[in-house]
Amino acid sequence: MILVLEPNTDPQGADWRILERQLARLPGIQYRVHREVGSEVTLTEVYLIGNTAALTVEQMQVLPTVAKVVRVSEPYRVLGRHKQGDDRASSFEYNGVRFGQDTLNVFAGLCAVDSRESVEEMMQALQAHGQTCTRMGAYKPRTSPYAFQGFGASCLPYVFELAGKYGIRVIAMEITHESHVDEIRAALQACGNPTGVMLQIGTRNTQNFELLKMVGKQQEFPVLIKRGFGITLDESLNAAEYLATEGNRKVVFCLRGMKTNMGDPHRNFVDFSHVPVVKRLTRMPVAIDPSHSVGTRARAPDGLLDIFHVVAQGVIAGANLILVDFHPDPAHALVDGPQALLLSELRPFLDDVAIARDGYERRTKLAREQTAH
Ligand code: PEP
Ligand code: MN
Repeated sequence: MILVLEPNTDPQGADWRILERQLARLPGIQYRVHREVGSEVTLTEVYLIGNTAALTVEQMQVLPTVAKVVRVSEPYRVLGRHKQGDDRASSFEYNGVRFGQDTLNVFAGLCAVDSRESVEEMMQALQAHGQTCTRMGAYKPRTSPYAFQGFGASCLPYVFELAGKYGIRVIAMEITHESHVDEIRAALQACGNPTGVMLQIGTRNTQNFELLKMVGKQQEFPVLIKRGFGITLDESLNAAEYLATEGNRKVVFCLRGMKTNMGDPHRNFVDFSHVPVVKRLTRMPVAIDPSHSVGTRARAPDGLLDIFHVVAQGVIAGANLILVDFHPDPAHALVDGPQALLLSELRPFLDDVAIARDGYERRTKLAREQTAH
């Protein structure tokens, strides 16, 4: 059971102390408090754990400062959307960029950092097209131990410095080990925090529970967690819940295709029809990764790349974030060159995204008008 308190409830106030005393008296019930400090309001939620079946919604509703009581019916207790009109806000802001189930942010960038020059060319192009987010892989989990593993901490100083120079506010960056978070924090501090980082949990680590717990304990960086490519959706959503239950609610869930021959000739079976499903089951913003789903620059007879087609499918279904590979010189990229879009394709890509987003907005407007009648 979750008690949603009145906005800006004072944690030192008299009402709060009365509430605490009442909660302490409930037999077999423990509670955990979560505070979300926003720019305008602070939201407080109290999670009751234990024999909550014995409590009634009415009984809890009358306690001081309680605005709403939500009985948790789904397995994703923190991130899930529960019954009884659970319309709790799900968005968060990070380094001046808002992420929610109603926003759309594009993270176009390098799969892997392979030189200072390609980082600079990429960021220059992003700035020229009004973009403030990107993806840059420094730690690459590779199938072959002989493949390029990423430059790791050594590239962070120039990646962050260039991000500051070109007005990039958030970089999605995969981490595969606890120590990478410390390296990222230290590198950001060393160059005066010119940008922000969204930590990425890759599909190979979706169920690396110790990594999830560690990343969930820190609340400085938001997290983008990829769906596991060979597990059920339920298992992947539970993995996201690990982050949240440790305290970090700034979580984005990313669809990136599933491993199955049914997806051939794409690298993975594209699963973007699950965008609205994840938005219904949880309060997380939902990302799509067309590059790792499709894996090629194949073009349909209508002239559009398969990557453009799947992006449009995800966006017209309400996707909130697009993680997409670009490279100034894909033929010489050290990782995933065959799926990278060219810098000359950035403008057409963004224009195509805008068409799909407009379509989504018109569709939801129509649906609202229909249900209002
Ligand atoms: C990536 O985004 O660089 C990546 C390796 O993706 P995934 O974990 O989905 O394979
Ligand atoms: Mn890649």
